[in-house]
Amino acid sequence: MSLPGASGGQPGSQRGADESSTNTEPARAYAELVAGNRRFVSGSPRHPNQDAGHRAAVADGQHPFAVIVGCSDSRLAAEIIFDRGLGDLFVVRTAGHTTGPEVLGSVEYAVTVLGTPLVVVLGHDSCGAVQAAREVTATGVAPAGHLGAVVDAVLPSLRRAAAEGVDDIDGIVDIHIAQTVETLLGQSSVLADEVARGRCAVVGVSYRLAAGVVRPVAAVPAGVATLDVPDGSAAAAA
Ligand SMILES: [Zn+2]
Repeated sequence: MSLPGASGGQPGSQRGADESSTNTEPARAYAELVAGNRRFVSGSPRHPNQDAGHRAAVADGQHPFAVIVGCSDSRLAAEIIFDRGLGDLFVVRTAGHTTGPEVLGSVEYAVTVLGTPLVVVLGHDSCGAVQAAREVTATGVAPAGHLGAVVDAVLPSLRRAAAEGVDDIDGIVDIHIAQTVETLLGQSSVLADEVARGRCAVVGVSYRLAAGVVRPVAAVPAGVATLDVPDGSAAAAA
């Protein structure tokens, strides 16, 4: 895998009969994303793994260290906001990071076939998909075409927000991110099994469009998003 500083070398190398919850790869992968986001926020990105040499090096196979299930919003490009490059992130994006069979299958492919140790749900403030669902709820007017499928997928999060007394758009977005984490685990027994075995973690993060910073709003297991961020120099070796 391409996680900087990883000693395993290849995905699955740490898997075995004695595998346990002591696997640190999910937390290290999350910390690496946070480190990259900090570089991006500070205006000091390193653009790792974007050169011609690396492009050739990863042509024969990919070992991404994180799956990103993100909103399609044009301001949410994963490799940019996490300051990563080719082969680092397995990205699945839909409006409002809604999940359907193809999304679940893509996540399962990355986690089980590629051995990716982390799944990140990436939402953001002022999310248009969440706002559209709110409008449908308020007006009762269903959107035309397939946009209805996106709205329908967001509605459970709106109901949860209402039940919790949350009415502001960004509070609802946070709930929708947490709901998406739960949906992934609830609808994919394959992913839930990988998490239960300690091979993988799922973290929901909220991105602020203006500031460019991400913050965790949900994590399974809970401790995975609290590991100290490694020194930024670690990423230079990527
Ligand atoms: Zn969005």
